[in-house]
Amino acid sequence: ALSEAPEWLAGLNPPQKEAVLTTEGPVLMLAGAGTGKTAALTARLAHLIRSRRAWPSEILCVTFTNKAAREMRHRVGQLIGDAVEGMPWLGTFHSICAKMLRRHAELVGLESNYTIIDTDDQLRLLKQLITENGLDEKRWPARQLAGLIDRWKNRGLNPDDLDAVENEAYANGKGQQMYGLYQQRLKALNACDFGDLLLHVLNIFRREHDILRQYQQRFKYVLVDEYQDTNAVQYLWLRLIAQERKNICVVGDDDQSIYSWRGAEVANILRFEKDFPGAKVIRLEQNYRSTPPILAAASGLIAANSERLGKTLWTEQGGGDRVRVIGVWDGPEEARRVGEEIERLEREGASMEGIAILVRAQYQTREFEDRFIQIGLGYRIIGGFRFYERAEIRDALAYLRVIAQPADDLAFERIYNQPKRGLGAKTLEKMHQHARRREMPLAAAALELADSDELPARARGTIGSMMRGFLRWREMAETVTPSELLRTVLEETGYNAMLQAERSAESAGRQENLAELARAMEEYETLGDFLEHVSLVMDNEAAGNEEKVTIMTIHAAKGLEFDNVFLPGWEEGVFPSQRSLDEGGLASLEEERRLAYVAITRARRRCTILHASNRRIYGQWTSSIPSRFIAELPEEHIEQETTMTGGASLWRANWSEHDDPFASVARQQPSRTVTRGPGWQRAVATGYDATPKRLAEPGRSAASFAAKPRTDIAIGDRVFHDKFGYGEVVGQEGNKLEIEFEQAGRKRVIDSFVTPA
Ligand code: ATP
Ligand code: MG
Repeated sequence: ALSEAPEWLAGLNPPQKEAVLTTEGPVLMLAGAGTGKTAALTARLAHLIRSRRAWPSEILCVTFTNKAAREMRHRVGQLIGDAVEGMPWLGTFHSICAKMLRRHAELVGLESNYTIIDTDDQLRLLKQLITENGLDEKRWPARQLAGLIDRWKNRGLNPDDLDAVENEAYANGKGQQMYGLYQQRLKALNACDFGDLLLHVLNIFRREHDILRQYQQRFKYVLVDEYQDTNAVQYLWLRLIAQERKNICVVGDDDQSIYSWRGAEVANILRFEKDFPGAKVIRLEQNYRSTPPILAAASGLIAANSERLGKTLWTEQGGGDRVRVIGVWDGPEEARRVGEEIERLEREGASMEGIAILVRAQYQTREFEDRFIQIGLGYRIIGGFRFYERAEIRDALAYLRVIAQPADDLAFERIYNQPKRGLGAKTLEKMHQHARRREMPLAAAALELADSDELPARARGTIGSMMRGFLRWREMAETVTPSELLRTVLEETGYNAMLQAERSAESAGRQENLAELARAMEEYETLGDFLEHVSLVMDNEAAGNEEKVTIMTIHAAKGLEFDNVFLPGWEEGVFPSQRSLDEGGLASLEEERRLAYVAITRARRRCTILHASNRRIYGQWTSSIPSRFIAELPEEHIEQETTMTGGASLWRANWSEHDDPFASVARQQPSRTVTRGPGWQRAVATGYDATPKRLAEPGRSAASFAAKPRTDIAIGDRVFHDKFGYGEVVGQEGNKLEIEFEQAGRKRVIDSFVTPA
């Protein structure tokens, strides 16, 4: 026993100390948010090292994110100083498995310098395999197969392990075969994907008993944070490693299980006591993070879930502001309001680093980014790209830029083959060549090439129809709103169809982002105005050391805490998400509620929830209903506020269609139905009956790059052409020449590709 309390135990409460000091045997720390689970786990790590129960290298500690691993490493360093040599195996499942796999790569047919491929490479590889095997990639998209393979790997299944049902899930019974071929191809490339990191190591453990034994011996202690979000393969891997010594300590909260869509199984935490009989279960109930009203609001909310273990949380803290629930008119007002609140906090001396805006879905960040840029507020987006930097947004913007400014070569290059049109690098090179010689933009060069024999007929046809598209859209831009233009472009280019065909969760997110882009554009009169706004936004990378507020998804915020938390978009269809409502199951709704619980419990001092009564979707105002989660918050711990007039107090208890007199009507006729005070009518008038908008500066159209014929070539001349060789000019029309080639016959070519012979 320790005679005097060492510093790493100082300040811990009795159950936390127990979790630290019960070093031998299995321990399950099961407790609610902010009760000091991670703090206790960190102290346990320090204790194991300082009490010399193990060398750092004999401890395995798993965190959910790399960021959490860095923080824990830092904190342990603070607790034990630099006195101890070496570091524990501390990291995410993936980083730890990558390290193990380097040592034993040959056992799964890889070399130790194997590469880890990213999603893009993975998709390219799968596409090749799909086509090689005579399957129609349109019908059986690579993304679908990638999703399935991921799922199988998350469950620890090799190709041979698939049953008939799984096999049927792709291309009428080709799942197993394609999965097998994919694994073979990876091996041939000395590569593996993300899911392989765990599966390969698990396979090694299953097959090579002496290697498994090495690790079982080596790791005297195993520690795991966020255990409620482990999936099957992680679970199996842990169980094998810890089986021998059984000194495993896992911490988690069943109420914070929010990754079932990635294969996490909350059941893992519930069966821990079965897997490790005699496990000591430690419950922490004192919350150190949040004020009483925040805690009460979160506890009240999660109580509505039926599938939970249930636990009590209390705090010694007193006072604290109630959770604020603010009803605003629409999305832009929501962003404006949050901006004002943050400026107020700033005046009161709050640190910007302690402020977070946590959203349900990535697309929601856009409105805040736009607003913060306007008011010059530094922000960072964590766990995702800034809105305008996402691939699909950049693609859409590239189209719009070429429409507004035909000379924008960079934009043109980005999308000339996006979505895929079968135009390769050769075609691009040809366009560049021509553009250089004629000193014209790429788009104009493409237009000319489409009307000549310089390119194969198919490429010509493809370019021709694309360029006709641009001419048409450029005309359209004069008469329709920018957002309407965008929708037309996405439709006519097949971009929408491409995303729809992918049928993955990720492509659904990308479609949402594009819909959000269209919404953003609705605030601009002309395409020119909008593009100017975007270039300002893109340029606004705030200075490096300036304090910034954080914008991130709730998923990414797990385990973190902030003094002030803003939670926008608490409306039915946003949060809970439309997808969870459409799926309809209790399980998906309960997962959304756990997500709401995670969101509120990130707050230390103040929590502000917002909901808007109107969102503009595809040019139409739809009225939205406050999230059912708001109605589930205990009334005495919240403070409601609304900036609307009339009918606005229906935010509470009225979320269901039966209770809400407006909701059902509004659903049937989203664009103009109920009157909710004067503002509503105004919004309908300006938002929906938009008069035709004009493009401020349409830019030069491609046609305005008038063809200048060469004067040094005339009918009857003998010429040389890069591709077709020697021939005689028989006709001339503008910059097009009709040439009778000696080998290739009669062709129409562009004069810049020809030299007098
Ligand atoms: P989550 O479920 O969100 O991951 P958690 O249970 O891991 O939360 P921690 O992040 O470890 O909780 O702790 C929450 C806050 O409480 C931190 O700021 C931590 O420093 C503080 N804390 C933890 N234990 C104590 C304690 N015994 N005394 C004072 N503060 C504590
Ligand atoms: Mg934690």
